[in-house]
Amino acid sequence: MMTDRIDNLKTIACRAIDDHSLQLKEIGDKIWENPELGLKEYYAHDLLTKFFSEHGFDDVEKSFVTDTAFRVTASNPDPKAHVAVLCEYDALPEIGHACGHNLIAEAGASAALGILAAIKAGLRGKLTVFGTPAEESDGGKLFLIDKGAFKDVDAAMMVHPAAINSFKTDYLSIKSFCITYRKSAHHELKDIWEKLNPLDAAIIAYNSISALRSKMRPTWRIHGIIADGGVSPCVLPEKSVLKYYLRTPTEAEMISLEEDVRKCFDSAAIATNCTVEIELDEGHYKSIQHNDAMIDTFSANAKKFGIISDPYDNCKPSGSTDMGNVSHEVPSIHPKYALATNANIHTREFAEAAASDKSQIVTIQMAKTLAMTAIDLIEDSSLMKRAKDEFNERKTGQVETK
Ligand SMILES: [Zn+2]
Ligand SMILES: [Zn+2]
Repeated sequence: MMTDRIDNLKTIACRAIDDHSLQLKEIGDKIWENPELGLKEYYAHDLLTKFFSEHGFDDVEKSFVTDTAFRVTASNPDPKAHVAVLCEYDALPEIGHACGHNLIAEAGASAALGILAAIKAGLRGKLTVFGTPAEESDGGKLFLIDKGAFKDVDAAMMVHPAAINSFKTDYLSIKSFCITYRKSAHHELKDIWEKLNPLDAAIIAYNSISALRSKMRPTWRIHGIIADGGVSPCVLPEKSVLKYYLRTPTEAEMISLEEDVRKCFDSAAIATNCTVEIELDEGHYKSIQHNDAMIDTFSANAKKFGIISDPYDNCKPSGSTDMGNVSHEVPSIHPKYALATNANIHTREFAEAAASDKSQIVTIQMAKTLAMTAIDLIEDSSLMKRAKDEFNERKTGQVETK
C-alpha cells in the first residue's frame, strides 16, 4: 500500500529529527547568539555546512554563488522527484534575529536530516538544501536563480516564524526606484523668471503620486521620500532626487501601478522643463505565487501536531520576501508559523521569542511538517503533478492568483 509506505517513511524522518533534537536546537541558538548581516553570515554558513558534512550529506558545496550561500544535496540512485529546502540565516541591524531566521536555518537543517533518513530508507527522491543569504537586504535567492540553481528542482519549501499561523500569506511584490531631475542642458537662462528648478519637478511628482492614491487598490502601497532637494535656500538646486517603493500583491498589479507612477515622474519633468532619469533597483522581490496543492499537503501534515492555519482572509499581506521570486521559478511554499508571542517580526520582543524554549518545540514540529510534505510530493506522483499543473496555470494566468 502506498499510504503505508509513505507513513513509514514519515515516521523514519520524524524519528531522525527527534534523535538529533539537541544538535538541531544548537543551530538555532548559536546563530541567534551570533547575528550577522546579509552577505556577511560567515559564522552561520560555516556552522550549517559543518553540520551537514558531519550528518551524512556527502555533497556539501560550501562555495556556491556567493561566499555565504551553500548547496547540499543527497539523492536516491533513482530519484523520481527533486525537492529543495531553503535555509535563511541573516539578521537585522541593531536588533539581531528579530525576523527569526535562526529558526528558519534550524527548521531547514532539521527537515533535511529527516528527508535524508527517508532517502536512506528508500525514498525515491533527491533533496537539495540551499543556504540563501541576505533575505533582509540583497536577496540571496535572486543570485541563486540567476545561476540557474532551481532549473532541475520540482518543488521548493521553507517555513518562517511569525506571531500567527498563516500557511498562505500574500507577500507583496516590491520595486524600488530612484528618480533624478536635472535642468535641461540646452536651457539658456535669459531672465531670472526663466530659472528652472528641479526641486519643483520632485514636488510635482510627489503630489501627483499622492493624488494617484485615491485610485489605488487598498492592498497597493507606495512609499516615497525626497532624498535630495538641494543644499541651501540660496542656491538653486541643480538636481533633485526622489526614492520610491511600490508594493502590490501580484505581478500583474505591479505592472499597472508602475505604469501610472512612471507617468507621474515623466509629466513632472515635462511641466518643469527638466530631464528625468528613472533607475529601477535590480533586486525586485516578486509577490508569492501560491500553490494550493502544496499548501493543502503541508496543512494536513501540520494538523498532526494540532497546528492549523488562520483562515486565508484573515492573513493580510505583510512584507516582501525573495522567496517570492523562487515561487515564480518552481512550485513553492513559504508558510508562517506562530511562536509564543504577539509581537510583530522586526521587533526586539520578537527577537526574544526566537530564542525561547517554546519556539523550539513548534520549530521542530514545522521541520517535521516540511519533511513529511517533501515525502508526500516525492512518493505521490499525482500530487506532484497537481502542484506542477497549478504552478503552470497560475503562471499563465489560467487560475486566480489567490
Ligand atoms: Zn524580516
Ligand atoms: Zn524574515
